[in-house]
Amino acid sequence: MTIKNFGVTKESAEKLETEDDLAVFRDKFYIPENTIYMNGNSLGLLPKKGEKTLLRVLEEWKTGGVQGWVNIEKPWFFFAEKLGEKAAFLVGAKSSEVIATGTTTINIHSLISTFYEPEGKKTKILADVLNFPTDIYALQSQVKLKGLNPEEHLVLVKSKDGRFLDEQTIVDAMTDEIAIILLPSALFRSGQLLDMKYLTEEAHKRGILIGWDCSHSVGVVPHYFDEWGVDFAVWCSYKYLNAGPGASAFLYINEKHFTKEAALSGWFGYVKEKQFELNLHFEQAKNAGGWQISSPSILGSAALEGALDLILEAGIDEIREKSLKMTSYMIFLVDELLSGEPYNFSIGTPREKERRGGHVALEHKEAYKIHEELLKKNVVHDFRPPNIVRITPSALYNTYTEIWEVISIIKSLFD
Ligand SMILES: *Cc1c(COP(=O)(O)O)cnc(C)c1O
Repeated sequence: MTIKNFGVTKESAEKLETEDDLAVFRDKFYIPENTIYMNGNSLGLLPKKGEKTLLRVLEEWKTGGVQGWVNIEKPWFFFAEKLGEKAAFLVGAKSSEVIATGTTTINIHSLISTFYEPEGKKTKILADVLNFPTDIYALQSQVKLKGLNPEEHLVLVKSKDGRFLDEQTIVDAMTDEIAIILLPSALFRSGQLLDMKYLTEEAHKRGILIGWDCSHSVGVVPHYFDEWGVDFAVWCSYKYLNAGPGASAFLYINEKHFTKEAALSGWFGYVKEKQFELNLHFEQAKNAGGWQISSPSILGSAALEGALDLILEAGIDEIREKSLKMTSYMIFLVDELLSGEPYNFSIGTPREKERRGGHVALEHKEAYKIHEELLKKNVVHDFRPPNIVRITPSALYNTYTEIWEVISIIKSLFD
């Protein structure tokens, strides 16, 4: 993964293809025609395996109706648990600690309302100004639900440059007034990956609970929640997990919290074997499943089954290695070809690999215009205000040549 393999010619990009063990995975996806798709951190493409499991579930419904819940080979009644079992490998958890359920923002509400217990001096939530806004909206309303004022009880760690967060600044903000912390694993604009292990340890030294929103890292970065001792986590499955728009999300509960009462309970969180006794007294499952609320969205998680199988087949360490090589290559090309006059691009993503998620933020004062021009040339990516062209090469379905082409197209806009 050294820079000496990188060159600015198309041939050097093609050379990188020949060294790529994951190249075979591109054919396992539907790639939109005549398109360079580099937006997998917003909506991953459809894997053929995901289509297959989705069609299977449709068929199960078509041919058996309600029988699908229990009287088929893979009963829907256990679908959420089975998906949790598969995803557990990606986050370093036990299968009982992960469940496919709800959606990310709903899961934040569910877990923060469970774990945020303002008491005595410890009344505040710690978060950051660079998180995806929905997380902050959820935290603001959670503070209000406790009868407190978010202006005072939701503390947001600031960023010096609007791009990155400094871990030491976060630790300094872990005062004895903080009850709980929610942070993003990777920042959605800059792609900075926070040091989850270190921050989790520092929070625990101070008696503070900590949860992570890993929407921008699960499926592209390995996680070790159990080893790190993370209290809880949430993540979506339509970005790097390729499960489709609005697909079921996930939550993780460390097993040390299994006896905790879920704040938002519902009948799917009931002890599985007894759920259909339909008692009015709620008996919560003693695992992550205890935090389910409603009937799982079976259609919404059907593609997730095949999509997860594909990622397990490729291997999360292999995906991480290739993803880093791809983003390093893109950064190399920007430095070489787009950094000086008249191009004037800068990299808004950490250059150290261990601090980088799966995408690259190209900064430019005309970012919005460049974004529009790129769309006209069928380069699918996104714009994040005020000045970021965000590009995500997927380790599973993009090629080094496509990266080279994107940079060449941007260069040609100026030439
Ligand atoms: C993508 C993402 C979400 C998405 O939330 P939904 O409830 O699925 O709309 C939330 N938080 C972060 C940090 C994200 O990256």
